[in-house]
Amino acid sequence: MVHVSLARGRHAVVIGGSMAGLLTARILVDYFEQVTILECDRFPTTSPQPRKGVPQCKQLHILLTRGRQIMEELFPGLEAELIDADAAVLDMGADVAWLNPFGWAARFPSGFEALSFSRYILDWLIYRRLSQVSTIQILESSFVTGLLTNSNKTAVTGVVMRRRGREHSESVQPEELAADLVIDTSGYSSQAPNWLKAIGYDAPEETVVTTSMGYASRLYEIPANFQADWRGVYIQAAPPERTSMGVLYPIENNHWIVGVCATAPHRPSKNEAEFLESLRNLPSPHIYNAVKDARPATEIGIYHPPGNRLRYYERNVLAASYKDLLPWEILSAHLHRSMDRG
Ligand SMILES: Cc1cc2nc3c(=O)[nH]c(=O)nc-3n(C[C@H](O)[C@H](O)[C@H](O)COP(=O)(O)OP(=O)(O)OC[C@H]3O[C@@H](n4cnc5c(N)ncnc54)[C@H](O)[C@@H]3O)c2cc1C
Repeated sequence: MVHVSLARGRHAVVIGGSMAGLLTARILVDYFEQVTILECDRFPTTSPQPRKGVPQCKQLHILLTRGRQIMEELFPGLEAELIDADAAVLDMGADVAWLNPFGWAARFPSGFEALSFSRYILDWLIYRRLSQVSTIQILESSFVTGLLTNSNKTAVTGVVMRRRGREHSESVQPEELAADLVIDTSGYSSQAPNWLKAIGYDAPEETVVTTSMGYASRLYEIPANFQADWRGVYIQAAPPERTSMGVLYPIENNHWIVGVCATAPHRPSKNEAEFLESLRNLPSPHIYNAVKDARPATEIGIYHPPGNRLRYYERNVLAASYKDLLPWEILSAHLHRSMDRG
């Protein structure tokens, strides 16, 4: 990785080492002398593996065109590494049969290529690159529990953390880590509103959308003699009438990842008969017919996401004080640069 030094500060801390945290660290390393990623979970050591801190990582993830371009810009050669890892390259117009609320989408060579692979491979490739950068420190089992401020609470000056991961964090003394900039990328479980309250600020207003959605996925071996005029299938939900959807995409190792998603009370379970039944009940038989005689390569994995939350940090009257916590300036500048070129 080549770094252009645009030094703005000495030390930046990123809370959470999943996709947002890893990409944020990559951007910040051009601006800070030292970047520390604090991750409460542990990363795999020798090969890509799912991990507990990213519970959605066994479900289908597709890297679409724009995401691919941005990541390639940040990590030149990443796309080739994904393809070496046997990611499937799909033209989303030509290769995917897509049933949307208006009918089947027209099939044509679109030039919009997406990569399809197990999500944790991407995390692993990026993690491996960042762990070789001398100015990035990655601390695992480091559970952030609060923020440090200056004496008049006008700036965030670091974080409080415990070094035993989330589960055992109560058994160790908290430590303080100073930083010129702190970025929270701790995802769904972010405690940022509580951390802000603890230092005397109001929690942001939020909109919560509880969809009661559930996902179930399973890998299948692609049968040797399988033939179809598609390589992937996406059967989209059409709410409020049809609230379930189904997907089948090729991934590495000659596998399909097959998933269903539905809202309560029809949330998919780990039960094999129910899983197949939900595939059979989709409005098109494409997926069910493809997998009914295929050999499963894994158990059925389920994921029930918590509700979606939109937190309005920018509405808070003290928003100006958050600028040390959320570096919109740097992140959006980078995105704007990418957009200008794109
Ligand atoms: C079923 C499903 C399918 C999806 N498919 C796609 C797709 O096809 N394409 C796509 O682009 N996106 C997809 N997404 C979205 C994608 O998974 C998420 O947007 C992305 O993983 C969010 O990344 P994140 O880094 O913000 O947070 P998360 O992945 O939630 O990670 C948060 C990290 O912070 C750590 N952490 C949490 N609290 C603390 C703490 N206090 N201290 C230290 N560390 C902490 C966690 O251990 C974790 O590593 C999908 C999501 C789901 C649920």
